[in-house]
Amino acid sequence: MIDNNDELIEFADEVEEAPGLKLTPWKILIVDDDPDVHVTTKLALKDLSIEDAELTFVDAYSAVEGLRLLRQENDFSVALIDVVMENDDSGLSLVQAIRDQLHNHSIRLILRTGQPGFAPESDTIRLYDINDYKTKSELTRTRLITSIAIAIRSYSQIKQLEANSKGLQETLVATAALSRLSNINNFAADVITYLCTLLDIEKECLICAALNPPKEAPFILSAAGHFSDWEGEPLAKLPEERVRKQLTQVLESKKHIFDNGICVYFPGANNQALAALVEPEHTITASEQRLLEVFCSNIAVTFENLQLYSSIEQLAFQDSLVKLPNRNGFMTEIGRQLNHSPRSKKALALIDLDGFSYMNSVLDDAFGDEILCAVAQRLCTHLPRSHCIARVGGDIFGVFANHKDLTPQIIESVFSEPFTLHKNESLRISATSGLILVDDDSLSAAELIKNAGVALKQAKYFNRGKTVLFATEQADKARDRMQMLNRLRAAFSSQRLKLHFQPFIRLQDGVTVGAESLLRWETDDGKFIPPDSFIPLAEQSGMIVAIGEWVLSTALRWRSSLSGKVDDTFRVAVNVSLVQLKEDDFVESVIQHMQAQRVAGHQIEIELTESIAAEDIISVTKKLQKLREHNISISMDDFGTGYSSLSVLRNLPFNRLKIDRNFISGSAADQPNYTIARTIKELAGNFKMHTIAEGIETQGQLDALRQTGCEEGQGYFFARPMDAYQFESWLMLSANE
Ligand code: C2E
Ligand code: CA
Ligand code: CA
Repeated sequence: MIDNNDELIEFADEVEEAPGLKLTPWKILIVDDDPDVHVTTKLALKDLSIEDAELTFVDAYSAVEGLRLLRQENDFSVALIDVVMENDDSGLSLVQAIRDQLHNHSIRLILRTGQPGFAPESDTIRLYDINDYKTKSELTRTRLITSIAIAIRSYSQIKQLEANSKGLQETLVATAALSRLSNINNFAADVITYLCTLLDIEKECLICAALNPPKEAPFILSAAGHFSDWEGEPLAKLPEERVRKQLTQVLESKKHIFDNGICVYFPGANNQALAALVEPEHTITASEQRLLEVFCSNIAVTFENLQLYSSIEQLAFQDSLVKLPNRNGFMTEIGRQLNHSPRSKKALALIDLDGFSYMNSVLDDAFGDEILCAVAQRLCTHLPRSHCIARVGGDIFGVFANHKDLTPQIIESVFSEPFTLHKNESLRISATSGLILVDDDSLSAAELIKNAGVALKQAKYFNRGKTVLFATEQADKARDRMQMLNRLRAAFSSQRLKLHFQPFIRLQDGVTVGAESLLRWETDDGKFIPPDSFIPLAEQSGMIVAIGEWVLSTALRWRSSLSGKVDDTFRVAVNVSLVQLKEDDFVESVIQHMQAQRVAGHQIEIELTESIAAEDIISVTKKLQKLREHNISISMDDFGTGYSSLSVLRNLPFNRLKIDRNFISGSAADQPNYTIARTIKELAGNFKMHTIAEGIETQGQLDALRQTGCEEGQGYFFARPMDAYQFESWLMLSANE
């Protein structure tokens, strides 16, 4: 910003000329009809240099010729004019023509006359701004030199003033325009335009930025002409060594260089700076150089303001903790990239740290901050530079990149190694991510982030610790599942989940020896949603843990309510999902409920599926053994449908194998011999386990099953699952039979 014009001019006056600079020579026009005068004048002024520039001479032998030359070239500094040539006052007419016709007011004029006494009126001298009027005899060599020197200096000053006012004007225009820019890239591009306009040259220019020294190496911020391909690249990559060196030197010395290529320096805030290189074809004049300096000093102010502004702006677009773009910044960058390159090739991920709020609440905030910074840093070092990485929310990071460079594997690999925190603590952090492919042209950055948010929500419900790639066709299914899950949550909290019970019958004598508790979801209109359709959902979302605990306590309370109405050995079986079993405190919770409901261990059975065999066998074995220590029996559900190695059967402390109903009444039922059931029974015998068959629907099946020696059965043939009230009625009826 310019607030004082005098300061500009002062600045220009103070400028020291750069060493090694070859300035344009001062052009002197000699107008004299006497050829000898030309020779002696040049001889007298030979080797003279003023303000570091040499003199060159142009000869004119008449006023007419002089005027023609002056009309052709307007860069003469001084004209030495003979007064009397073609006419007595040819010289004076020429002077008049220069000022009035050519409007050349900057050239300095020295009048010489061979005839003393023929002097123009002092008015003329003043009117036409003549520097000197001397007789030729008066003008000794020394005097001539002095006279020329004064004339040239005064010419130079005039030119400076002209340049300054032109520069001032241009600078004012440029500064005003540039100060409206809020973006450093646009600023740089415009500086190039103004620089080239100022020097009246083709756009052949390069702006190099040291924006974060010494952390980041200088890079090419903006470029025009044959440099344009290098925009965005590190300066070190530029093939032209000379240019590279010059820019580096300018950034280091913080001074302009006026050499073959002109290299100017713009200081900014916080040790940041720009250096611009222009390569004009002509050697620049001293006044152009000053003009440039004036321009630079003003633009530097604008640059600094821009940086200050952008640091304020950064607050709105950057996360101050992890120094990454925030949600605003992320959206802006996505918007920018979408406008620049084809959409079909992008992918957007939202990465959510698992259990962060827990860590943050259990440990202190500073620890949470440290985790966030460590993750931000890991993302930046692990992912290619081209990825746009942001912190879009508390513990949610966003990544936008080409779809090939952003896959679930790549994201998951970021978290595969533990993180090292400041006290050299090593911490494993897992993350759940939603990833979408950006293949819809019509979506805005905000909508894309929203979609990725839906994918993330999906992932959090169903694939904790994983990345879910969200394809459009999956959207509907996913939405259904989400809705169902939300309804299940509501049903659970409003106690619309119920337990039904289905009896276990001892095949030998038809006595009811226990019952399996089966979950029911009763909807508002009194219908039941079958557990097969919601249990997997509850398992994937982790909700099964809470539901399972409720089932356990409800089933035990029910068993407790039966005391006195059934044999002491009557057992209630509870289905326990693997997710539940994996909970650290599963066994403790069973024991707690057992004590709370005053139910003995032998009155409880846990049904587990074969899939537990795939789990951490040591920890599962320990847990099952603990349950066994409390006399709780364990039954392997759906036996025969999964895969269990014999060693699993041998090592896991099961009491009972439950023959899957598929072998009894389903498609794999090989009646009338029940070879499979028979084999399972034999196997169980070898391992000293009991057997129960589920899915007995007919008398025929029951009869065939009895032949196999299987001890117990369950199925619609005896009873469907019933609520507690129905069960008691059924129990009384069957006892009376
Ligand atoms: P499951 O443990 O194999 O339970 C037996 C299923 O077979 C029950 O289906 C039962 O109603 C059904 N069933 C009983 N007798 C017959 C019959 O004669 N023929 C036929 N075709 N089916 C019969 P339900 O109640 O729909 O339960 C389905 C599955 O849901 C259960 O299979 C179990 O895996 C799961 N489940 C039910 N309640 C719970 C629970 O509280 N916790 C957990 N984790 N899973 C549960
Ligand atoms: Ca079961
Ligand atoms: Ca079963």
